[in-house]
Amino acid sequence: MIIGTGVDTVRIDRIKEGISERILGPRELKEFEKVKDKKTYLASHFAAKEAFFKAIGTGVRNSCFKDIEVIHDRLGKPLFVFHKDYEFNCVHLSIAHDYVALAQVILERCYGKIYLGLGSNIGNRLKNIQRACDLLQILGINVVRKSSIYETKPYGVTDQPEFFNCVIEIDTQLTPGNLLKLLLHTEQIMGRVRERRWGPRIIDLDILLFGNTVYELKELSIPHYDMLNRQFTIVPLVEIGANNHPLEGNLTKFLKEGEKCRLITSNW
Ligand code: ATP
Ligand code: CA
Repeated sequence: MIIGTGVDTVRIDRIKEGISERILGPRELKEFEKVKDKKTYLASHFAAKEAFFKAIGTGVRNSCFKDIEVIHDRLGKPLFVFHKDYEFNCVHLSIAHDYVALAQVILERCYGKIYLGLGSNIGNRLKNIQRACDLLQILGINVVRKSSIYETKPYGVTDQPEFFNCVIEIDTQLTPGNLLKLLLHTEQIMGRVRERRWGPRIIDLDILLFGNTVYELKELSIPHYDMLNRQFTIVPLVEIGANNHPLEGNLTKFLKEGEKCRLITSNW
């Protein structure tokens, strides 16, 4: 469902380079230093952000230009990075410039398309994963699809038992920040104790993808910062049809021969 649209135009010759500090975030400022046509860059980013604020319906008054940044994927397509928690899970941005910079933004709440990674290597690993799924549903999360469960060698810290891992697709109205709180709460209910990073755990719940959005919040990075290096994430994601990473495109190119995920069950 489309929940908002916004367009904006900015005359490039009217832009003053002095506004860069006010409207650009840290990633953009780095890029801006190297850009030749600074006025076009500023006009495009200004228009994109104004269009976004129109689409969420607040206008710029209640928002800060630095809450969002415009970056580019590996093919040069512009996309937003959010530094603030928002409610949609799909965003589309298009920019054109020729005398004026023109930006169009469409915000959607798509059914599902939010992917969580589950892992366990203490106790009854299958039951732990099943219980986590049940708890999430009790807490109001709609589980749309479940991948098979795979057994994988421990990652990072290798002197610990092997993991059971899987991915689930969920549907929720929660913002990414509130979803993270709910996942941490679920880990806590199940008795997870954090002793060392990448150490053994009854349950680990990660947000891998949140529609096509990119977030950099203080406590949360989406897509998950290391998911492309983990076959126990890529294999189940591809299995259940989540094949698009907002920055890197098709996930199937990250599948690696030889790094084994042993199938445990497809029926759980
Ligand atoms: P990793 O972070 O590599 O998955 P880990 O599972 O050992 O390692 P945890 O102890 O589970 O790390 O760390 C969880 C913290 O990571 C959370 O409290 C959260 O603030 C932060 N975090 C950042 N991005 C994400 C994400 N996409 N999903 C879940 N947690 C995230
Ligand atoms: Ca984690």
